[in-house]
Amino acid sequence: MTLPDTSSSYFQSNSVGLPLATSAWYDDHVSSTLQTSIIAAAVGTATFATTLSLSTFLQLKLRMSTGTLAPIPSLIGIATVGTASLMSHIASMKSYQMSTHNWKKSFDTEKILSFPPLHFNLSNRRDMEHVFRVCLVGIIVYKGLGGRFWSISPSSLTTLGSFARTFHSLPATVKYASPSERIKIEQIGRKVGCHTCGSRKIFSRGKNGIKFIADHMPPQAVVKQMNAAWHRRLLGFNVKQRFYPQCIDCSGKQGGILSKASQDLLKTKSGSLLERMKPNVNLSSAGGGINAHFHGFRGYNLRLEHLTGGVIAAITVHNTDERNILHRRGGNRKRFLEFQTELEKNTKLFANYIKARIRWIQQ
Ligand SMILES: [Zn+2]
Repeated sequence: MTLPDTSSSYFQSNSVGLPLATSAWYDDHVSSTLQTSIIAAAVGTATFATTLSLSTFLQLKLRMSTGTLAPIPSLIGIATVGTASLMSHIASMKSYQMSTHNWKKSFDTEKILSFPPLHFNLSNRRDMEHVFRVCLVGIIVYKGLGGRFWSISPSSLTTLGSFARTFHSLPATVKYASPSERIKIEQIGRKVGCHTCGSRKIFSRGKNGIKFIADHMPPQAVVKQMNAAWHRRLLGFNVKQRFYPQCIDCSGKQGGILSKASQDLLKTKSGSLLERMKPNVNLSSAGGGINAHFHGFRGYNLRLEHLTGGVIAAITVHNTDERNILHRRGGNRKRFLEFQTELEKNTKLFANYIKARIRWIQQ
């Protein structure tokens, strides 16, 4: 972007030298910036969603799922969100670079690839600080938009799936769901989707109009095994269950996995000597690993939290100029620093408020 000659008659500036909204320069440049920002936000959102899907895919290959021992899925999720935020940050700068330099006219792949929008050197402390700042902002925004870190893992079919939310479930006993509970679960399922695969089954006709089953979580067979554990029997703690909406397809898969695992378990108890020597089958983990459901790369799984990439892109390129975005080592560092300062101030305010409350209670 080239700044116009200040002596030209059409350029009007305010007291601090910024162009007035009524000037022709503003029309030419700032209004196009809005368009550039919208493109960058779309690119950022797509980059974020793709990075999350890639992480889900990688985790599937590594036999990880929502059923993997906590807090491993959450920790991987935090690292994924940080990486995805950084990717969105870089993609938004690249998108800005391409739309403002009008490279569409003379599409030069070498030029596009050779000009890094973000200078990043591992031994440069300021570069590293900026990268961590971007990751941190992304993690906070993701959480603020209602995202959960563990839900990036593939869904285990025998534990809570990636799309399970307690406030979209019903309390349950060992009994089957009552007719009214079934109607309620059907309604929840059509609204928020299957807790395992996320699908709302909009285009499915279902079995006799039924698209969602009230899924006992944990499943009955799993609970039976869990409650039989010596420490639960000793302490008298029984596992509590809830009903979650699960689509008929996932429900069928879960049934198949559990019946096979239960047969295997039976063999380790009463099969041949060789079979009895094998360790007991853990029914809870049967739906994870190779049996887990991959929910990446599907349009219907786009959620509000995927906009984190768009927010990062907007922070990076919206309403600022090329000097901040592409120069000074790139990445609109000043704005991310301001964001952090603001956050620290608020945290301090919040901490002081809590301290004051505690003092007040102690008095
Ligand atoms: Zn499903």
